[in-house]
Amino acid sequence: MTPPLSIRTIVLKTHRAVQSNRLLSVCRRILLFFLGSFLFFFLLNVFFPLRVDIEYSTIVTAKDGTVLKAYLTSDEKWRMYTELEEITPEMQHAIIYKEDKYFYHHPGINPVSIARAFVNNIISGKRTSGASTITMQVARLLQPKDRTYGNKLIEMFRALQLDMLYSKEEILQMYLNLVPYGGNIEGVKAASVIYLEKTPSVLSLAELTALSIIPNRPTTLRPGVNNDVIIAERNKWLNRFKADGVFDDEIIDDALHEAFNAFRTEGPDIAPHFCNRMKQQYPGEAIIKTNLNAEVQMQSEKLVQDYVKQLWGLDIHNGAAIVIDNHTHRIISYVGSADFGNTFDAGQVDGVRAVRSPGSTLKPLLYAVAFDEGLITPQSIVSDVPVNFSGYSPENYDEDYHGDVNIEYALSHSLNVPAVKVLNEAGLNLFTGKLTECNFESIESHKKDLGLSVVLGGCGVTLEELAGLYAAFANKGSYAHIKWLQKDADTVSQEIISPSAAFMITEILTQLTRPDLPNFYQHAKNVPLVAWKTGTSYGRKDAWSVGYNDNYTIGVWVGNFSGKGVPELSGANVATPLMFNLFNAIDHTTNKDWNTMPEAIDFRYVCSVSGKLPADFCNNVALDYFIPGISPNETCDHLVNMKVSENEKISYCTSCVPETGYKEKYYAHYSPEILAWMQMKNIPVTKIPEHNPDCERIFADGAPAITSPVNNLEYYIDKLDKQKMMLSANVSHDVQTLFWYVNDKLVSRSTPASPVFIDPQEGKLKISCSDDKGRNTNIEVEVIFF
Ligand SMILES: [Zn+2]
Ligand SMILES: [Zn+2]
Repeated sequence: MTPPLSIRTIVLKTHRAVQSNRLLSVCRRILLFFLGSFLFFFLLNVFFPLRVDIEYSTIVTAKDGTVLKAYLTSDEKWRMYTELEEITPEMQHAIIYKEDKYFYHHPGINPVSIARAFVNNIISGKRTSGASTITMQVARLLQPKDRTYGNKLIEMFRALQLDMLYSKEEILQMYLNLVPYGGNIEGVKAASVIYLEKTPSVLSLAELTALSIIPNRPTTLRPGVNNDVIIAERNKWLNRFKADGVFDDEIIDDALHEAFNAFRTEGPDIAPHFCNRMKQQYPGEAIIKTNLNAEVQMQSEKLVQDYVKQLWGLDIHNGAAIVIDNHTHRIISYVGSADFGNTFDAGQVDGVRAVRSPGSTLKPLLYAVAFDEGLITPQSIVSDVPVNFSGYSPENYDEDYHGDVNIEYALSHSLNVPAVKVLNEAGLNLFTGKLTECNFESIESHKKDLGLSVVLGGCGVTLEELAGLYAAFANKGSYAHIKWLQKDADTVSQEIISPSAAFMITEILTQLTRPDLPNFYQHAKNVPLVAWKTGTSYGRKDAWSVGYNDNYTIGVWVGNFSGKGVPELSGANVATPLMFNLFNAIDHTTNKDWNTMPEAIDFRYVCSVSGKLPADFCNNVALDYFIPGISPNETCDHLVNMKVSENEKISYCTSCVPETGYKEKYYAHYSPEILAWMQMKNIPVTKIPEHNPDCERIFADGAPAITSPVNNLEYYIDKLDKQKMMLSANVSHDVQTLFWYVNDKLVSRSTPASPVFIDPQEGKLKISCSDDKGRNTNIEVEVIFF
């Protein structure tokens, strides 16, 4: 019996209602489940927040990204930070294809593969791996745990958190930074640098495929140990890439044939002094990106090492070098010692930063300052004769004096007396002030203790400071701080000397006729086109040579870190050849005219005897640079016109010249000190005849200058030894006789050339010297017996 139609309809309707009610309830349950899960996740997320705290090895990189040196982490791991740009698209493709094809599409976990793995595990009855996304692997690498179902859940939770907090790129980067490569090597960058000696960004497809498979079996796939196994495994994957069209067939075919010559190295160790310094200077940075030029650095390290080895026979064991790019103020090479690993010769000492005596290397700055002060020009004459500055008597390197010389000669021959004289005139404070502006630290901190000897090396400088100063010469007189890091902002240059002064100094320092051209280079055409200055410190402990052209400044120091002096050591013969070698190796400029004349400078003829503007009687002239409005403008007085008796025995002044019976004659005009020196050297001097004895005029100019003893000094005299005190003076060239007085009592009558010796009494002494023209000079000294 069939139910009535109406009943059937009701039943059907009821059935449909039940069905739709069920659907609703299922939907509601699913919704509730997801809502509950989300709520649960967010609650967990609040109570168990993700902390990512990865310590990376500090690495110092060169301008091109080359890793110069890496440092172990505190847990003794090589874990180097891979930057996003180092992860090439090829590497991304290979890793994602291998590890997690849906990496970009899932929220950290892949529900499909989890479900599949779950089913597989139930069917097979054992726990198989799989279903781990890259994100889950990162979670495991961040917090390693045993492989249990519980821990798998935690990993999934952490993976969701990671996906929420980081971009896909950052998660991939973390993965590449943490994957194990066996031993203490972690991450693709450390593996790449230590096994293949290159950065990840330049890996070939074959290399990056090899590196992508090692983490799966880091103990059995050991580069250098199981390279054949790695190649076989690599090729398996390359063929899979090919089958799935991940890369072009041609590229894969090439990769299949590529050798794999990886082996474990000690890690890069380029520019160790520099890297140690950078690590100390910029603590806490994973990657210290410097401006060093890796290629130039390796070249110069080798040059310094090879060069210093040749000097071992002379008992010279170390050297340091620094190369500055003049245009960018970047250090492109930094060699702290000949061999960092040589502990016997203190190879760890950083010769670039060691404070040493600069010898003569500060002289160019002094003359440049004096050019700007209007005191001198390159052809100005200065007398190189014995002088005494309140007890300080500088001597030349060759222990000889050269009489009147021009500044150009004084600088190129590195004479000491002219430098001290010019410094005395320019002012010590002005000079040390300039050095302070150029960041000479030791000079700044010892400013109060420095004397005129500072220009001869009586102070402490570093190779870095010196090179910085010379780079200012190359930059037309403007000094700029060194830019260590790529991220350093452009430094503001500060004018230390004018472009004109820098030009004149460079002109002098580029000349080749000079005593400090190394012997070997006398006839060689391989002298680089550079300006340079050498220096040798007192006791022959430090040899310096600093050179520059418009591109680079190269500073070189050679010596022993022990401070041992060596007779053969000199800036010219020991440091300059290395500086030249470095220039020839790294700079191939052939521009001879890089030192261009600034507009503010001009040239003119000067008398070559006096360096002053020529007078009518000047027969020899020389071309000289000068700064109009600043440089001295005096007219030459190298000759003096005198009225003398017919027999040239008596000279007259305007007040005593007779009306007839005299003639006019030119006599050389010597300063008292140069006259004294000429007499000492037995150089014949045509003296101006004795002044008319009947003349009643009193001469004010040209009084004797007492050279010994020195005014206002205390003299300690050994009474038992019967030490005598020497009286000497420089006098005008018309003087025949000198009269010496002690406490106003005449003690001696002498000729100017012969010094007088007295037995002084104790206490304050007034010492007077009068000449035969009635000119007188007094000084005071104190004699103390002991
Ligand atoms: Zn003249
Ligand atoms: Zn007279």
